[in-house]
Amino acid sequence: MSEKKYRFETLSLHAGHVPNPVTLSRGVAVERTSSFVFKNTQHAANLFGLKELGNIYTRLMNPTTDVLEQRIAALEGGAASVAVASGTSAIHYAIINIARQGDEIVAANNLYGGTYTMFDAILPQFGITTKFVDPKDPKNFEKAITPKTKLIFIETIGNPALDFTDVAEVAKIAHAHQLPLVVDGTFTTPYLLRTIEHGADIVINSLTKWIGGHGSAIGGIVTDSGKFNWKNEKFPLFNEPDPNYHGLKWAHDLPAALAPIAYALRFRTVPLRNLGAAISPDNAWIFIQGAETLPLRIVRHSENAHKVAEFLKKDKRVAWVRYPGLEDDPSHAVAKKYLKNGFGGMVVFGIKGGYENAVKLIDNIQLFSHLANVGDAKSLILHPASTSHSQLSEQQQREGGLTQDLVRLSIGLEHIDDIIEALDEGLAVSQK
Ligand SMILES: *Cc1c(COP(=O)(O)O)cnc(C)c1O
Repeated sequence: MSEKKYRFETLSLHAGHVPNPVTLSRGVAVERTSSFVFKNTQHAANLFGLKELGNIYTRLMNPTTDVLEQRIAALEGGAASVAVASGTSAIHYAIINIARQGDEIVAANNLYGGTYTMFDAILPQFGITTKFVDPKDPKNFEKAITPKTKLIFIETIGNPALDFTDVAEVAKIAHAHQLPLVVDGTFTTPYLLRTIEHGADIVINSLTKWIGGHGSAIGGIVTDSGKFNWKNEKFPLFNEPDPNYHGLKWAHDLPAALAPIAYALRFRTVPLRNLGAAISPDNAWIFIQGAETLPLRIVRHSENAHKVAEFLKKDKRVAWVRYPGLEDDPSHAVAKKYLKNGFGGMVVFGIKGGYENAVKLIDNIQLFSHLANVGDAKSLILHPASTSHSQLSEQQQREGGLTQDLVRLSIGLEHIDDIIEALDEGLAVSQK
């Protein structure tokens, strides 16, 4: 695979896997095992000492999961990926693999509800605090940086107002201050945007969403670009002897072949190994299946969502619509710069009559499933202010662009006419 530079669609199907030379099976096998046999005591010692890479225990790595990790690393254009049990644990470990007690994060204020709560209410318990800024003006990130800042965190398309963040501009600011840019690219997937090409150092995907694509499993993955310079003294976790790993200095002591993936290796062998949010090989297999058809599905998700946005835009029962693909959307100019294959599957809109009518729509609409997920092959509907983002205060909601009349749609792969008919009929009931 590494000899030829295959294109995205080809990598989606092949990266990280060849038919098993012994069994000759074409499909990826699910390796349902907790542990792997050492050839002898020297082999075991080499594996534990990072002198040799290989399977030890499925909490750390597994051959099925390894295929998924290689595939996503190839799709993102990164140096290495590590899969974990959820997008949420991917974000948690990504942060604590950089920052420790006393450190600060500068983050966009329009994050996924769970991420916002992690940064706002949970990480402070461990002495890591976050300054939230409005990402619409990248300069806001620069203003919030202090000597304690250890990373900048953004989402490509923010949640739930769908504002698009100018990744390269934020990356420039991060790098001018020798900080890594951590990007949650869940809403764009690498098919719409390979953020590493625009300066992201660490990329996170919730596999649960479009990569899995069928609403059938929970998982997350972190991809290391391999480009960030961790040798800077600003990052003690990489420059001081690590008591988690018999005094290893991650930015200095790794063999040359492993040095570029110091971040991914530490992620695997420190937070994942010792905090334990491992993905099951069965779920890894589900995400490999999803990755195979990702490019096809994202094109259709985007086409359908675009048509839904245009339909809602003209509808009298709708107060406003946000979709980065609409030419007059506040995010269109920036989104167009980055997204060449479509604008994604999410549409949000304000319903006339506010919360009361949103409830009537959601309780009566056919075809759409009312649930708190996105990126399923099926169309989904949600009222974020009273559900996924209800942990936030009203002020936090407003700052993140979340209003009481906002209805969130994750547009699926059904026939577009059926999707629009369902919305049309649901909107009619909502206004009665
Ligand atoms: C769903 C989601 C997460 C969390 O992922 P889980 O797999 O549900 O833990 C994080 N960020 C974004 C943008 C998401 O959509």
